[in-house]
Amino acid sequence: MSDQLRPETLALHTGIHRSQFNEHSEAMYLTSSFVFDSAAQAAARFAGNEAGNIYSRFTNPTVTAFEERLAVLENAETCIATSSGMSAILACVMGLLSAGDHIVASRSLFGATVNLFNNILKKFNIETTFVSATDASAWENAVRPNTKLFFLETPSNPLTEISDIAELARIAKKANSWLVVDNCFCTPILQKPLELGADIVIHSATKYLDGQGRVLGGAVLGQRDLLMDGGIYGFLRTAGPTLSAFNAWVILKGLETLTVRMETHARNALQMAQWLESQSNVTRVFYPGLMSHPQHDLAKRQQRSGGGIVTFEVKGGKDAAWHVIDSTRLISITANLGDAKSTLTHPATTTHARISQEARDAAGISDGLLRIAVGLEAVQDLQDDLARGL
Ligand SMILES: *Cc1c(COP(=O)(O)O)cnc(C)c1O
Repeated sequence: MSDQLRPETLALHTGIHRSQFNEHSEAMYLTSSFVFDSAAQAAARFAGNEAGNIYSRFTNPTVTAFEERLAVLENAETCIATSSGMSAILACVMGLLSAGDHIVASRSLFGATVNLFNNILKKFNIETTFVSATDASAWENAVRPNTKLFFLETPSNPLTEISDIAELARIAKKANSWLVVDNCFCTPILQKPLELGADIVIHSATKYLDGQGRVLGGAVLGQRDLLMDGGIYGFLRTAGPTLSAFNAWVILKGLETLTVRMETHARNALQMAQWLESQSNVTRVFYPGLMSHPQHDLAKRQQRSGGGIVTFEVKGGKDAAWHVIDSTRLISITANLGDAKSTLTHPATTTHARISQEARDAAGISDGLLRIAVGLEAVQDLQDDLARGL
């Protein structure tokens, strides 16, 4: 498919390989293995002398279609699909790193990612230094001779801090390290980290890429040699956390509406953020699209809009925050995000409950903080729903 086409077109027309039935919607290939014409063909496939599918832990046509479509959206040479966002991160570190290597990572990462780096990789003698998402000099100072990888999410969860991808890419390059960006919050519709100098993009396809909260999935994107020869694909093919054809099909169809969904999520979120700023019981609103956001200018340069996540702090701490949650009738009380339906969560007692009060205070995650992943509902209905508890 020509790369002259625009993202909304590519999201619909990339990765179509019709079968002999000429179906219009993409077929789903639910099969674990593939049949060979002859013993010689089987041998040629296994030897890598002939292209083609062998077994769905290695490749599957539906998974390939999803990979091709996401790759053009991220402007990546190669995409490798995984069974979840966490297995995308796992494949990345297992493929690229060895015992004795060191990671510099943002302090504001998804909880399971922190857990993976801190508790699991540490067992294999891979150490991580966590630094401020927004202080580039802290990243530079954390570099050691054995540093191999920089890892960040921007905007961060839940405080929507913005990391300067281009600046950190320069520092990573100087440190002979790869920069990995988890692009879950923005999706390629709002931000393309590879164009800003990142080496690898990670996705939890479970979130906006699916967009309707149905299945788990993930992806690793970047240059072909790094992904294929760097050991990431080899890890997946051998260890097995590959994406199922069913999930790939669901997310592939989700990508078709990604542009319109992200635009609406962001438009609704900006209206919600502005409205929340005017509420007397709301002490602070964190949203990159607001002028009051400390990195509003950087966000404007780096992202096409502020995205769909708004975090705000209410007067009265935990009791007041829980009251807002328990007064809703429409918004779902769930820690998931990126769904067409709005979701509301209290980070201090859910997603960030396992870290100490001190660490939460240091990270700015106060007891009065609430995070809303703004969905596709009418904004007025969402405002009415929150107003009940505010
Ligand atoms: C959800 C999430 C993940 C993990 O993805 P799963 O699909 O749940 O494994 C990683 N990073 C971010 C930013 C997320 O929100």
